[in-house]
Parts: sequence; C-alpha cells; structure tokens
Amino acid sequence: MDDFPGLHVSSHPAVLHKLALLRDETTKPPQFRALVREISWLLGYEALLDARIASRPVTTPLEVMEGARLADRIGLVPILRAGLGMVDAMLELMPTAQVWHLGLFRDERTLRPVEYYNKLPDSATVDLCLILDPMLATGGSASAAIEVLKNWGATRIKLINLIAAPEGVRTVQRAHPDVPIHVAALDRQLNEKGYIMPGLGDAGDRQFGTGRSD
Ligand code: URA
Repeated sequence: MDDFPGLHVSSHPAVLHKLALLRDETTKPPQFRALVREISWLLGYEALLDARIASRPVTTPLEVMEGARLADRIGLVPILRAGLGMVDAMLELMPTAQVWHLGLFRDERTLRPVEYYNKLPDSATVDLCLILDPMLATGGSASAAIEVLKNWGATRIKLINLIAAPEGVRTVQRAHPDVPIHVAALDRQLNEKGYIMPGLGDAGDRQFGTGRSD
C-alpha cells in the first residue's frame, strides 16, 4: 500500500458503516443523498480539528467563563455537481461558512478537467478552504481546483472526498504537497474509464437519479 503522509483516512466505525451502505448498488438516491450528507458531516468534523479558535466570554446561569468561537473564516468549495450533496452537512457544522461553487467537468476523452463555472471575487475572503468532491479519481479536477484557489490567494486548503483512488492522491500530492486530504476510504485503483474500483459508481448520478434506468 502506498504511504501518503498528508492523507487522512477515517477509521470511525460510523463512517465505515455508512460507507458500506453508500457503496451498495441497491441504495436509491434518497438514501444515497442522506448518506453523503452524514458521512460529509463526520469527515468535516475530523478535518476541522486544527481550525483556529478565539476566546469568547460566556455568561452561564452560574458565572462568567472563557468560551471559544471559531476564528477561521471558512470557505466551502463544492465541485459541481457531485460536491453539492456535501454542502448542507458542512454548513450545519459551520453555519457562517461562505460557499463558493466551482464548475469543473471531466472531458470523457482526455479525462482532463475543464472549468465552466467560477464566480470567485478578485481576492480571497476566507482563511481556510475546504474543497468538497465525493470522488478523488484521477486527481485532475482536484488539482485544478486547488490551483484556482491558490491563484485566488487561499493559503490554507483541505480536500474532502468520500472515496479516493491512489492515482488521484498521488497526483494531488505531487502538485500540492501542502494540501491535506480527508477521505472515508482509499480504494484499490482506477479502471480504464477513470472510475474508482471498487468505488460506488457515478456519485453525481447516484445522488441525483440521473444514471441509466435499465
Ligand atoms: N467520479 C465518480 O462519480 N465516480 C468515480 O468512480 C470516479 C469519478
């Protein structure tokens, strides 16, 4: 097995249980969406472990104490369209986060990312960016998204995926060794069509019910 220093693979039993349900081919879009949301929440919780906090005085019914507040301005960057299903869970964790959508699709012939939607303002408005995309396959889209955010001025970036292929992790880490990757599972490999094996199929189609219906 490859050794990827910046890769965090969750070993939480709740994540593993939900991930098996997510992969199951009989799981229908409503349950699939619920599982994407639940796993995203747990991954987000783990990924925010080193987020910065500032002290905040709190008056309890009994006395005044030093509490904490999240000091980092968080930016959520879902990659359209499959990353959309991860946003609500992250906003539950961090209600004040900004959401900046990035549209990147994979050219099915070249397997290279093509940018089609980007409304980022001129300079970075957040301290910590979390890129949300369920599948880290070739790593092309993830690397392109990181490039866009770095050019925007983002200095702290994390990549959150449900499932990664070793090929994708290697590509991202070669180009961006400073970007930690948080996943629920590191799978075996990509197949010749660029799908993660054993994976879960097409994460966008399975969320939005747009797959083949034969
Ligand atoms: N995108 C998906 O939705 N699934 C894969 O297996 C790879 C890329």
